[in-house]
Amino acid sequence: MTAAREEWRSLVTKRMCHAAAPGSERYWCPELECGSRAEIEGLQSEKVASAYRLLWAHSSFYRRKFLDAGLSPASVGGLEDLARIPLTYQEEWAADEEAHPPWGSFSPLSHEEWLTRGWMLFATSGTKSSFPRVFRHTIFDRDQWAWQGARALYAMGVRRGDVALSCFGYGPSVAFWGLHNALNLMGVPVIPGGGASTERRCLFVERYRPTVLLGTPSYILHLGREMEAAGLDPRGSEIRRLVLAGEPGAAVPATKRRLEQLWGARAYDDFGCTEVAMSPLGYECAEQAENSEVEVHLMEDQYVVEVLDPDNFEPVRPGHVGVLVVSNLYSEAQPILRYVMGDLVRLTRGSCSCGRTHARAIGGLLGRADDLVTIRGLQFFPSAIEDAVRALPGVSDEFRIEVTRERELDQMRIIIEPAGACNNDFNDALSRRLQAALGISVEVLLVPAGSMPRTQAKAKRLLDLRRVGSS
Ligand SMILES: [Zn+2]
Repeated sequence: MTAAREEWRSLVTKRMCHAAAPGSERYWCPELECGSRAEIEGLQSEKVASAYRLLWAHSSFYRRKFLDAGLSPASVGGLEDLARIPLTYQEEWAADEEAHPPWGSFSPLSHEEWLTRGWMLFATSGTKSSFPRVFRHTIFDRDQWAWQGARALYAMGVRRGDVALSCFGYGPSVAFWGLHNALNLMGVPVIPGGGASTERRCLFVERYRPTVLLGTPSYILHLGREMEAAGLDPRGSEIRRLVLAGEPGAAVPATKRRLEQLWGARAYDDFGCTEVAMSPLGYECAEQAENSEVEVHLMEDQYVVEVLDPDNFEPVRPGHVGVLVVSNLYSEAQPILRYVMGDLVRLTRGSCSCGRTHARAIGGLLGRADDLVTIRGLQFFPSAIEDAVRALPGVSDEFRIEVTRERELDQMRIIIEPAGACNNDFNDALSRRLQAALGISVEVLLVPAGSMPRTQAKAKRLLDLRRVGSS
């Protein structure tokens, strides 16, 4: 093993305090979770410098980027030099995999090391391209995910004595494996519900009395409704915590309320990113979960987060919305620096009542900049429309948004299932409420209850039909 790799691994593991048990009653790793800003930045600084040396020495992808940017091995000595490092975009990464198949040239691990590091394959869900992009992560990395996942779950209030039912499928998802391994590390029993039907999962909830439910917000809503349809009572179950990943639902206030009312449980947001933030980058502490407007902690000892203006990629002023750019501070397989995640966020560094000092994303991930839809000159995130629809009384959880252009004018139609009997007045009332919430007129199309397909995984609810035929 070379000096640069040795230095990187020992730096990452040196800071891995309380690896297998909580360090205090409130925090898994109190030293890192409650450190002062100076301590957090000191740690980030040390790791940024080490990652830079590692990538210079062993990543041909990054060495090319550094040379193109006119950098030398001595150019980055800490956090203060981070902005000198060029940004990494998904497109150049995909092009690198194309040019150096099948894995690309960004990993600092050598071919010989890959043979002995117990890699596993992971993939994106493939929503942005026809072919999902794949990655390898080693045992070392997956141990990091488990430890960081344990810190996040502990902050949510998951403890020994809980029993978890995971509804994520057995597949190449970093979120699923990270959370699964975290529960193992914590000694929390896991019921793997991934391969089971919804009917069987309902039975698991009834018979084995799990207290923590893991899945996508869409699916956990669906599961609760199916229990009700089967004459069972999700509120009467032992479920007390919903750990939600894969979609922004737990941070969409109206969806969060629906989930919490349905299950009589608290909903917690957990997010990351397959490329750069495989463990929980964002996780909601128990104190924030009490609020309807959520603020999601970012694990800043493991990542550097920057919020940049999408036009010029300069830092936005504190508290302003910008594009999230993330540097990974722990991976041996892909310690990617300054990756443009593309999600918009707004951060606060104000103190949190939980005592953790790390920054919080107000409202979680606000949506990807390229998901923004412009309708009659107004810009909307799909999550904002979801919030307006899910806040409507008397409608089911399923809905679809269609944006069309008729006679040169944008039209938004929302297709909704009523939860019970309704009439024309109901339709008008929904239109008025949506117009008040969104600021534009909305056509509501009611379809018979139960007629829309139920969402089993990541939901795609917005169809922009203006693009059809124009590309
Ligand atoms: Zn907190």
